[in-house]
Amino acid sequence: MTGSTARRLQHFIDNGWRDSETDGWIDDVNPSDVRDVIALVPKGSTNDAHAAASAAARAFPAWRALTGPARAEHLYKWAAAIGDRAEELAQVMAREVGKPIGEARGEVSRCVVILRYYAGDAVRQIGEVIPAQSPGALQFSLREPLGVVAMITPWNFPLAIPLWKVAPALAFGNTVVLKPAESSSYLAALLAETASAAGIPAGVFNVLFGAGATVGAALLEAPEVRAVSFTGSGAVGARVATTAAARNIRYQTEMGGKNVVIVMPDADIAKAASLTAAGAMRYAGQKCTATSRVVVARSVENEFLSQLRSQVESLPIGPVTDAKAAVGPLISRVSHDSITEALRDAKAEALFSVPIPGSTEFSNGNFFPPTVVRGGDPDGLLAQRELFGPVLAEFTAEDADHAIELANHTSYGLSASIFTRDLTTALDYINRIHVGLVRVNGDTTGVDPHAPFGGMKGSSSGSREQGPAAREFYTEIKTVQVNP
Ligand code: NAD
Repeated sequence: MTGSTARRLQHFIDNGWRDSETDGWIDDVNPSDVRDVIALVPKGSTNDAHAAASAAARAFPAWRALTGPARAEHLYKWAAAIGDRAEELAQVMAREVGKPIGEARGEVSRCVVILRYYAGDAVRQIGEVIPAQSPGALQFSLREPLGVVAMITPWNFPLAIPLWKVAPALAFGNTVVLKPAESSSYLAALLAETASAAGIPAGVFNVLFGAGATVGAALLEAPEVRAVSFTGSGAVGARVATTAAARNIRYQTEMGGKNVVIVMPDADIAKAASLTAAGAMRYAGQKCTATSRVVVARSVENEFLSQLRSQVESLPIGPVTDAKAAVGPLISRVSHDSITEALRDAKAEALFSVPIPGSTEFSNGNFFPPTVVRGGDPDGLLAQRELFGPVLAEFTAEDADHAIELANHTSYGLSASIFTRDLTTALDYINRIHVGLVRVNGDTTGVDPHAPFGGMKGSSSGSREQGPAAREFYTEIKTVQVNP
């Protein structure tokens, strides 16, 4: 497909498709074959952002006034509308962001679960009774919606991340403007189609396309926007937080990671090798929770590395049209070049890498060889920088204390796992590891859709998404006292 046949995206505002006032376009391409232009994304403008925010503000009073059960019904219908197009959405996801089809199908199923979960939340309690000092008084707290919430999202979980923000926001009575990543915009347009098919009322859910630095930034400044939920890189997250703090609007920023696996001498080495390979290399390492460091006890290092190598070699690399592909391409040539450059700058010592097959189906994609390198200096680039690709840095630990020290020695704090059969070692690690998502004998990626998700230190601004944590973010508390 060429740019001339690719769909020209329009903003989804007030349940209608609306042209951007700008005429510049961004190519949204298939990373397995960059000649395949899937959509043209309007660059967008400040006025586009204001139009979306004001539509959401107009829709807010009526949406907020609906009962919780009525909002729940809307979310159940939306879940069904996504279920109706599940296979198509998964295929588009594979083509647009290079997610292997099995994982893409899993993400679409998760979206249905997310919407159902928050439909349930719309009918759960929205406050608590608090004993009053005044005799006879009834005192209680009420959770109320914030108003218009902006969502700025990355490309790598192109449906699940938008929905795990949008679903709780709507369940609690807020209205939304979603600004998806440029390279996952086509899927966001399909998400809007499913919302429309489900009968979500006009203006309740709006999608604004465009360049982050233009429309994303303008959306944050729109006076109607009362909160922002951001997921993406640390650099952009810091900017979002600064703008939101200056406006005194609520924000949450979920950012990168330098996630770590620890392998202790008593570990099930086969399991550790298999789950470390999967966590580091599947989807070409482009999950915020992907394993990018492994810290291995010296006594099992050779055995672990040898099993890790066979596990990494057994993961099929392929364009996502190949149903067996587990690794897939990087999202862009820019990402490919920046990882190549980082490995060169770090003078990385490769332990092994798996070459990209020479056949023609790989020649137009952003494929990067799955690579395991020695970690080297704990303060160096390979230990500290999120590369967001299929690159794993290996470090040697002398004992459990040293392993935890190395694991914590990063500015990030998203996800970690330890492989051990010893309960005391596991409990000590759980106590001392400084991350938001802690695993024992599991891989660092993924989290149940109803469990709190987020990181410590530089990975997050502190709040959590998903499950009960979402209620905290998308509501504010009114304390009420009624006297006789
Ligand atoms: P990114 O920061 O480049 O972009 C994220 C979003 O921000 C996009 O929608 C983009 O258009 C927008 N944006 C860019 N500049 C902006 C600005 N000045 N103002 C407002 N918005 C702006 O991130 P990405 O490349 O799309 O995603 C990869 C990053 O996301 C990685 O660092 C990854 O770790 C992180 N991530 C984190 C989580 C998590 O939950 N912690 C989950 C997935 C991805």
